[in-house]
Amino acid sequence: MFICRNQSCGAEWALSDVVIKNEGQGLLFRCPMCGARNYVERHDSPEGEVSYEQIADIDPKTKR
Ligand SMILES: [Zn+2]
Repeated sequence: MFICRNQSCGAEWALSDVVIKNEGQGLLFRCPMCGARNYVERHDSPEGEVSYEQIADIDPKTKR
């Protein structure tokens, strides 16, 4: 489960709700509700399963 880090949004999304892509600064998904960038980290298990973990750090580009 991911939670949009835009505090005024805060929507919860399952992996199947979002599209994870790399826009050049790492993997992220755009919140389907507000469009905020939410960064994720990809994990590959030894069994070949792929999972994604949301990165809690605030994107410095939006902290202006
Ligand atoms: Zn959002």
